[in-house]
Amino acid sequence: MLSRWRRRLEQATRPVHDETRMALAERWRALPQRLQTPEQLLGRFAVGCEGTQGVFPRCNLTCSPCYHSADANKVRVDGAHTRQQVDDQMGLLRARRGPRAHAQLIGGEVSLLAPEDHAAALESMRRHGREPMSMTHGDFDSNYLHRLALHPDGSRRFGRLSFAGHFDSLMRGRRGLPRPRSESELNPFRRRFAEMFRELAGEHGVDYFLAHNMTVTPHNIGQVAAVVHDVVPMGYSMLSFQPAAYVGDGRRWSQDFREVTINDLWEQIEKGMGHPLPWQDLAFGDPRCNRTSWGLLVGDRWIPILEAGSTSDRRARDRVLNHYGGVDFGWTPRPALLVKLGRVLARHPTDMVCAVGWVARAVRRAGGVRRVLTSLTRRRLRPLSFVVHAFMDADDVAPAWELMRAGVTAKEPRVLAAQERLAACTYSMAHPETGELVPACVQHSVLDPTQNRGLRQLLPLNVLTRSPS
Ligand code: SF4
Repeated sequence: MLSRWRRRLEQATRPVHDETRMALAERWRALPQRLQTPEQLLGRFAVGCEGTQGVFPRCNLTCSPCYHSADANKVRVDGAHTRQQVDDQMGLLRARRGPRAHAQLIGGEVSLLAPEDHAAALESMRRHGREPMSMTHGDFDSNYLHRLALHPDGSRRFGRLSFAGHFDSLMRGRRGLPRPRSESELNPFRRRFAEMFRELAGEHGVDYFLAHNMTVTPHNIGQVAAVVHDVVPMGYSMLSFQPAAYVGDGRRWSQDFREVTINDLWEQIEKGMGHPLPWQDLAFGDPRCNRTSWGLLVGDRWIPILEAGSTSDRRARDRVLNHYGGVDFGWTPRPALLVKLGRVLARHPTDMVCAVGWVARAVRRAGGVRRVLTSLTRRRLRPLSFVVHAFMDADDVAPAWELMRAGVTAKEPRVLAAQERLAACTYSMAHPETGELVPACVQHSVLDPTQNRGLRQLLPLNVLTRSPS
């Protein structure tokens, strides 16, 4: 009896869940060798991000470019289909990627789902150990948000919500601004979106995490710096930019998207912040896909979690990745987390010295103890990271994927590069019908068109209620 109790306690406070450890090891093994570097997070700290597919393909705005396939808008939004598919897909991700991960509720436009269906999808994702983020164009009002976040009797349904709001001048059809001529015209909409969540938190105690997404083409890259400057004070915790790729509906491709590189875009983001944003010491998958700078906004000063060129910070990074990779910081109840961390510290006691050193350096960068405490008490301290995610063109992904499935390494450099990137993909989607996990690039470039043609038959827009005869 006592030994069973001890075993249970040991398992409950084990720093890393066994399935997470296995999922991490599998991801690390699958990474190309040149990406198995000290700064790599995939396979050491994280199992990767996840997203839903085919659960609600339709959208009511039009973008140029649009990543949805030509048939997406001919598929009906159907709550029962969404609930079932989300549950099945999350079940597979839970089995393959372990008990904890971040997952995006994505497809077409999430706010076209009835609030009850949207809520049910989020609850299902949580049941499978996924921390969900709803992807939206942000063109909905606070009534929708309230109906999602609260039960019909007004009590809280969710303690926390995560949303990514997509705002850029390439989108058409937003209420109040159907044809934006510049990025700055969208600022009131970006601000209003963040305010809805602030109000919800103030009135009902629903905590939130907000990301701001923007697609970038040669048309609007010159406005990125101004967007960064304007959006940082609005309350978002992530500013994410996607250079446009040739994916989805070819009728919506109108420019030479390839002119926008990650380096060009990063330069503009740094210009908007007025200083460099260090990214070199942490990598997530392949650097041709992702670039991220993690940091904190303390008052109006942004500080990176790892300062460029700091060997002390690099040492701290190595300790965190080597000793704490896979620890479930976000979802473990505080007391259990403290015991877990205590168990790691017992094995590596000098980590404490390293942690104190890192905190001291971070406080110094933020402007001193007083400034940090003032920002904390005034609720002006929050995480703020900058992300560029560069999807690949369908023309490269399709042949790369076909060869990969046949076990063949491509010879053509562009296709080979696509294969390397797919092998290190950080953003997966699940196919319960085959048991496969596929990179989002493959989903959008290869699978979506056929799949949406099928969904069009399954979920037609016009449901016949009586025989045509
Ligand atoms: S979805 Fe595509 S661009 Fe994104 S990480 Fe995967 S392979 Fe790279």
